[in-house]
Amino acid sequence: MNDSQIQKLIIIGSGPAGLTAAIYAARGGLNPLVIAGREAGGQLMLTTDVDDYPGFEDGIQGPDLMDKMRKQAERFQTRFINEDVISVDFSRKPFTIKTEAQILLAQAVIVATGASAMWLGLESEQKLKGRGVSACAVCDGFFFKDKNVIVVGGGDTAMREAAYLTKLCKKVTVVHRRDALRAQLALQELVKSKSNVDFIWNSEVIEVLGQEKVTGVNLKNTQTGEIGQLEVDGVFIAIGHKPNTDFLKGQINLDEKGYIVIKKETQTSVEGVFAAGDVSDHKYRQAVTAAGAGCKAVFDAEEYLENLKV
Ligand code: NAP
Repeated sequence: MNDSQIQKLIIIGSGPAGLTAAIYAARGGLNPLVIAGREAGGQLMLTTDVDDYPGFEDGIQGPDLMDKMRKQAERFQTRFINEDVISVDFSRKPFTIKTEAQILLAQAVIVATGASAMWLGLESEQKLKGRGVSACAVCDGFFFKDKNVIVVGGGDTAMREAAYLTKLCKKVTVVHRRDALRAQLALQELVKSKSNVDFIWNSEVIEVLGQEKVTGVNLKNTQTGEIGQLEVDGVFIAIGHKPNTDFLKGQINLDEKGYIVIKKETQTSVEGVFAAGDVSDHKYRQAVTAAGAGCKAVFDAEEYLENLKV
């Protein structure tokens, strides 16, 4: 492969981190190639009202925000491939990135593949996935119009899911393993203000019931060990996220939860490979912090590429 076929910068991922990186890199003359993934746009594609992204005084819908970011990146001639990355070889330079359909080479890489919803890990949950068990209220809430559902979890995601579902469902019950929510106060208050919401505290789902579709759950009280049954039509799991780094195993340093370990700023353990957004951030995980990290990663990549020339 000759030099002209080696990309200067490949960005893997197309959430707020990847697309912000694309905007900065394209404007900075790096002619970036974005491998957007088959589920392009990341977690915000599964979100409705985004009220905390600056610049939108009346809020904006998640998919609309991502659409605007992508169009902004395209305005500066960013190139996109809508495929998933299957594997990488970061042991040699230029770096190799294998997608479903092609093998690409790059001098520098920004990894911004984000994180995906976690599951409880119950056999019954896996069996009834798509038949009443979901991790996305925006995608599947419609199927539970005027029905009873539970939302498992006590964080921001759980509150967002619950708030969305109250608009469609007859009743939404939040099942949380402790007696206090982790979610930000504004979201807690929003959910608690709804008339069709209920909370079951100190409880874990130990089994999802049903054959062809969900009919209920078995709950275990985390304090007393008591087991009880609750009849429901839908189970929404909202217990956090797992970084999308399976394709990086053995190529780059990951922590015990699979997040990319950052050496300095956005620099990973491999020189020339940078990380931005939820894939390396288990603390802040906001669209705006991911976008900021995407911008920083481009500055770091630019510096690296400049030094290569020297
Ligand atoms: P999170 O903050 O980690 O909350 C996960 C929740 O699930 C916790 O309440 C946790 O319980 C519970 N949980 C974890 N594992 C469980 C298990 N195996 N069984 C039962 N319950 C379990 O995750 P998140 O809500 O997805 O939020 C992640 C990050 O994204 C946060 O920084 C959040 O601020 C951000 N976010 C922001 C927004 C927004 O609107 N600004 C929306 C979504 C997410 P414990 O409380 O007992 O640990």
